[in-house]
Amino acid sequence: MAALQQPVWPVGDALRSFATVVADNGSEEGFNPGTVSTFRGEPALRIAKKDIMQLALPFQHALVGRFSYSRPPMETVRKFFLELGLKGECAVALLDSNHVLIRPTLEEDYTRLFVRRTWFIKSSPMTLSKWSLDFKANKEISIAPVWVSFPGLPIPFFDRQVLNKLASVLGRLLKVDAATGDLRRPSVARVLVEMDVTQTPVTRIWIGEEEYGFWQNVEYEDWPEFCHFCERFGHDQQICFKKNPALKPNKNPQPQQTLPRPTWIPRQGKKVRRGMQQSTMAGEAGGVEGAEAFVLDQGQPEG
Ligand SMILES: [Zn+2]
Repeated sequence: MAALQQPVWPVGDALRSFATVVADNGSEEGFNPGTVSTFRGEPALRIAKKDIMQLALPFQHALVGRFSYSRPPMETVRKFFLELGLKGECAVALLDSNHVLIRPTLEEDYTRLFVRRTWFIKSSPMTLSKWSLDFKANKEISIAPVWVSFPGLPIPFFDRQVLNKLASVLGRLLKVDAATGDLRRPSVARVLVEMDVTQTPVTRIWIGEEEYGFWQNVEYEDWPEFCHFCERFGHDQQICFKKNPALKPNKNPQPQQTLPRPTWIPRQGKKVRRGMQQSTMAGEAGGVEGAEAFVLDQGQPEG
């Protein structure tokens, strides 16, 4: 039976801090959400939005690892996380054949994992995105950690609480970098902020009151590319193959890809690389062995 409407989970809710949600909901004691009822004549479990958010709280640090190519066995994936030496526990479970659910218990571990968007497990790349209530295997939530700089920020504002407030204009503060924390580099304050990257980046923030204050510039390191069309990180919709199939490069119809390889010709006890010949990729590489010296005859770049 088709649903009347798809639920819409606002992205902003994923940025709300634990403290904010708990404050909204009061104590967890006696938490018994939902009432059996009806919705437009059909059976329903009526739950208030704030209670749904409360239920999702234990998963606020959950991440989804996506294996685009091949996924190593779960035993290997779990071993990888064990050997990372995280500070707290971290449960890893299979979501579907290409996705794993990763649940670090400490925010510190969550930040460490998430700031590095791609990890390699036995040479299989695993891309991390934030888990959300409306997780879908083929979509990613548009929230990512971004390093933000406040160049020339006056030194008194390097206070952790002030930086937290300043970062909250942009998203959720994950980390203050060490040189900012101990004022080792007073020329710039640098913080890691979890942000919705579909929003237009804020380039300046007014600090002060109406008549007394200053504009603080905001700079970003490596603003992540996010495609609105396929809802995935890694490319912009202007170069999206799904949105613009004409942009997709033609697949080479040749059965074997060929690479130019040099021909080695001996000259006065040495070898000279002269010109290129075509050979198949499946052949052996290079052919340079031993400690013999080689002289390059032509400056052509290798395949
Ligand atoms: Zn795309």
